[in-house]
Amino acid sequence: MLIVHKYGGTSVGSLDRIENVAMRVARARREGNDIVVVVSAMSGETNKLIEYANHFSKTPAKREMDMLLSSGERVTAALLSIALQEMGLDAIAMTGRQAGIKTDNHHTFARIESIDTKAMRRELDEGKVVIVAGFQGVNEAQQVTTLGRGGSDLSAVAIAGALGADACEIYSDVDGVYTTDPRIEPKARKMDFISYDEMLELASLGAKVLQSRSVELAKKLSVKIVAKSSFSEDKGTVISKEDEEMEEVLVSGIALDKNQARVTLRQVADRPGIAAEIFSALANEQINVDMIIQNASTDGTTNLGFTIPQSELERAKEVLSGFDKEFGSADFDENVCKVSVVGVGMKSHSGVAAKAFSVMADNNINIEMISTSEIKVSMIIDQKYGELAVRTLHDAYKLDR
Ligand code: ADP
Ligand code: ASP
Ligand code: MG
Repeated sequence: MLIVHKYGGTSVGSLDRIENVAMRVARARREGNDIVVVVSAMSGETNKLIEYANHFSKTPAKREMDMLLSSGERVTAALLSIALQEMGLDAIAMTGRQAGIKTDNHHTFARIESIDTKAMRRELDEGKVVIVAGFQGVNEAQQVTTLGRGGSDLSAVAIAGALGADACEIYSDVDGVYTTDPRIEPKARKMDFISYDEMLELASLGAKVLQSRSVELAKKLSVKIVAKSSFSEDKGTVISKEDEEMEEVLVSGIALDKNQARVTLRQVADRPGIAAEIFSALANEQINVDMIIQNASTDGTTNLGFTIPQSELERAKEVLSGFDKEFGSADFDENVCKVSVVGVGMKSHSGVAAKAFSVMADNNINIEMISTSEIKVSMIIDQKYGELAVRTLHDAYKLDR
């Protein structure tokens, strides 16, 4: 079998932990499997590098950020390879570029366009364990790019897809996907299976156990993901196609996203085209606008509220400053969070949303914004009630069963 392993920051967070990973990889290899390992930077490393850059600039050039941030995973890949060689295994570490990963030009949030697997194949054929630095590739001009935070998951899934691997095992410090973040709700239950669609919602709504783009790609390429712990022997959670049994589950999980900020523009000139102009300008800067609320207009002006990732707030302020003649004032609130209820069963049952709103009401939590889709209900609330909301919703839908 050909298996892709991916080890996240915590799993390679110290030299001892890299040694532990080396032992796990060596065991899988000695069982006769071909192994490609994708690694993250040691935990905290990427944040530290971002802080270093911010020491010089609040808005550093993105190309240079990619030069900087891609270094973290390169360190881990080389160290793991050295550790494996010392154990008597043949191993080779590669950068994203050496592994043939080609991306678009979108520095710091690049999309993988193709993978030329020749080099990886050659090394696998020679019996080597191939170790690839995650989170990176090169664009057409051979410039290093990175894939967005948590992007090593995406590297792993893309490589598994390109090589036609039998599975993509993603190792972190939790032994699978839980009904909610077990750090917030200790009663959270581990799931044996979850569908791509539900996992995609949970991941994009804040459950960082898997990066959402990686789940999207896994669905597209039919890559079987298994979420596992690098510290246990648990069989983990399989993420795969939805089956009939899954449809019977009304709610499968609760997600919390603290990386949210709310922008309110007051006294916006109420004329056709204004929303298009503002939101196009934000989109051009790759700022992801999520929920939007526009109030009924009074005396020719209106209030426009929307949410964006907190990490994009500085850039949003810059973009909006170009529109200052179009509105009276702008305020920015970082003390909000988004709590979401996810489940494929909602498609065929009513009352799930109403129940979520009642739970908030019973706990005196004010809902500031709401959005729903076929399989999720999301609410923006005060950040200080985020974890309480997760626990009470988890209880209300009896997810600990
Ligand atoms: P890595 O650094 O290995 O990529 P992450 O820190 O990105 O790992 O993801 C693992 C973390 O995801 C866990 O420690 C856990 O706190 C968090 N998490 C959030 N939601 C969930 C969930 N529903 N199930 C499991 N873990 C979750
Ligand atoms: N090191 C990168 C990050 O912290 C990528 C990853 O770990 O997946 O976001
Ligand atoms: Mg991660």
